[in-house]
Amino acid sequence: MNRYDEKNVSNYQIDLVFNAETNVLTGVQTVDFFNSFNVELPEIHFHLFANAYREGAQFSPFTQSEINDAFPNGPSFGGIEITSLKVNGTDAPIVIGGRDEDRLIVKLPRALMPTQRVEIEMEYTLTIPNVRHRLGHYNGIVNLGNFFPIAAIFENGAWNQSVYYSKGDPFFTKVKNFDVSITTPSRLTAAMSGRVQRENLTGGRTRHTSSSRLMRDFAIVLGEFQVVTGTVDGIEVRYYFTQEMSMLSQEALSVSMDSVRVFNELFGKYPYETLSVVKTHFLHGGMEYPGLVYISDVLSGNHFRDVIIHEIAHQWWYAVVGNDQVAHAWLDESLAEYSVALFYERMPQFGITYNDRIAEALRTFALFEDVFGKNFDGSMNRGLSEFNSVYEYVVVAYHKGAVMLSSLRKVIGDDAFFRAIRNYYETQKFQIARPEHLVAAFEAASNRDLQTFFATWFAGDIQTFGRA
Ligand SMILES: [Zn+2]
Repeated sequence: MNRYDEKNVSNYQIDLVFNAETNVLTGVQTVDFFNSFNVELPEIHFHLFANAYREGAQFSPFTQSEINDAFPNGPSFGGIEITSLKVNGTDAPIVIGGRDEDRLIVKLPRALMPTQRVEIEMEYTLTIPNVRHRLGHYNGIVNLGNFFPIAAIFENGAWNQSVYYSKGDPFFTKVKNFDVSITTPSRLTAAMSGRVQRENLTGGRTRHTSSSRLMRDFAIVLGEFQVVTGTVDGIEVRYYFTQEMSMLSQEALSVSMDSVRVFNELFGKYPYETLSVVKTHFLHGGMEYPGLVYISDVLSGNHFRDVIIHEIAHQWWYAVVGNDQVAHAWLDESLAEYSVALFYERMPQFGITYNDRIAEALRTFALFEDVFGKNFDGSMNRGLSEFNSVYEYVVVAYHKGAVMLSSLRKVIGDDAFFRAIRNYYETQKFQIARPEHLVAAFEAASNRDLQTFFATWFAGDIQTFGRA
């Protein structure tokens, strides 16, 4: 049924060693690259997202207003240095390019034909900054998100040129298979995408390994963690926390398991064996990776629960059904945010109704419009760089999108609405969906022309969708 199977994707083997004294990671990475782009490729581009953390980066992962919160101990920088590169076993020149020294450009000795493979071996040294972000260490926890070289997307005759925008999650990549190991001091636990095996080595070190198939990305969080686990629909759900963050760990696990069960029922089954939910030091509320989500340690109460549900919903919208998060960020964010309302609708014991959530999203807009008036741009299909502020981005991609989906459900009815969502999940699984795929799924299930409906919402004048 799916065009992707695990034989027709790239294989990433990554072996890492973490030095806890220096917060430096060394990596040996072999990419058995599969050309799935239907064109000949004379070169292959890998994102070096870690270089956005270097001193002098033009595109920083933080907005100016986030700097103090991101660096409680003062400014700190990181980055990745590629120290060796081989193509099919032969030394190759290391070319760093892109718009912000954020690409490794691997020139191939001859163009790679569609469906052919090439083996690219690289070694690197990654300096982890002291920052509360996707990649960073703080108070003994090490977040390793978007840290290793990962192939970019080739589309419309060129390699995608997006950079590390400070708004949204500027990541966009195809599914692949991973075999990852990380060696650390034995006191550390590694939360990883996929199921982790531990092997004790000599010298007080431990190697943590994980294999996963058909994953878009891979993340690791290191810390002196405790973990509580449970199983739902055969999926192992793990909640990681440290001693000082241990409050509500059973509740957090329980909400995580409820989220997996509810979304399995509503959308279709989560395809991986495990899901790790990690409470960590993080500037924003949470962050999604396939098989692993960050939940910020600063959250509490309802907000803490809402973020767990939202990040877990991203397993369906972003991790399994991919999308271009730079060009159409609303596509996964709207569905993830709307999924939180669906969760509460299914779980009345939390005392929050579906209507509460939708009304709150609508209020958030109204407030935004009141504050910004004519300067409000509510259009949805914009690239991350075209949003005027983080707040405008959140209001449009999360809240407006959730209200749009709620309005659509009223227009086409529950039966067509949920059939469309399930069908979208099933047909776009492991692929990269575009807005028109979601629109087409709703049109097919409802047997209606919804072009005007969506065009009106996408266009974005707030008055056009009514403020009842
Ligand atoms: Zn999100």
